[in-house]
Amino acid sequence: MSTTSFTKQALGVDPVEPALTPPSSDTNAAAFVKKKPKLGSGKTKKRDIPAGLWTKCPECETMLFDKELDENLKVCMKCSHHFVIGARERIHSLVETCTFEEMDADMISVDALGFTGAASYKDKLASNWKKTNLKDAVITGVGMIGSHRVALGVMDFSFLGGSMGSVVGEKLTRLIEAGTEKGIPVIIISTSGGARMYEGMFSLMQMAKTCAALGYHAKAKLPYISILTNPDYAGVMASYASVGDLILAEPKALIGFAGPRVIKDTTQAELPPGFQTAEFLLDHGLIDAIVPRKEMKERLIGYMDFLMTGRKAAAKA
Ligand SMILES: [Zn+2]
Repeated sequence: MSTTSFTKQALGVDPVEPALTPPSSDTNAAAFVKKKPKLGSGKTKKRDIPAGLWTKCPECETMLFDKELDENLKVCMKCSHHFVIGARERIHSLVETCTFEEMDADMISVDALGFTGAASYKDKLASNWKKTNLKDAVITGVGMIGSHRVALGVMDFSFLGGSMGSVVGEKLTRLIEAGTEKGIPVIIISTSGGARMYEGMFSLMQMAKTCAALGYHAKAKLPYISILTNPDYAGVMASYASVGDLILAEPKALIGFAGPRVIKDTTQAELPPGFQTAEFLLDHGLIDAIVPRKEMKERLIGYMDFLMTGRKAAAKA
């Protein structure tokens, strides 16, 4: 069973501009003294708001009350900007209460390569376990969405940038295989910066492994719905995220293989406006639909009603 305690920290949604809400007491005096107030920015009127209660929308610059923002599934009440949302909160928004059975909840990464750099992989893992309250960048399990039992995998960007290492690949592969075995649809909601560099080739192998499992799922004539959320890049986009029978995306999500700067530098060409946004990719045929977060559950039920119709009839016959 998954826990349903959503702390701000666990969800990885820090206020967009923490500098706008400086600590109100002098307990943090040293840190406060270090930060010189930016003079002349003309935006210092929110100074006495306690830290952590408000988040500034990066799109429309409205100050949003965190409680209301949470209740609105982290979608700006004014301009519908979709903030990053944690995996547990997303599962909670889609799956019927108390029906989610988490799989492989304790699977954790090992430092197979003995990776060291500015920080070792072991240290990075330890700090991310603590920071996010997650064991890795994906939560998988089986639950009910409407009247449909589904195998659901949801990635969390707050854990090492949603990077795909052996654990993400293995958990998703087991999820897909469970979906095939149970004869139910697989839904994967991804957000990722790509393969996890700390695991080198082991990360890249997950691309083939997850796609192979999806291949068997397709052979069993079962649907796979891929949902792309902001941001979604590299090894994840180049594998399971882009091979859905249906590929949905959240509004304005940034989706691609290499980032726009790399592409611009490599091709030496001006990129078209809106490049790599969900809207651009819908126009160019990579995705099937853009679905706002608040409509996602209803739309998924509709799609599954359609995709599973023949199957249910065959099972009855
Ligand atoms: Zn907004």
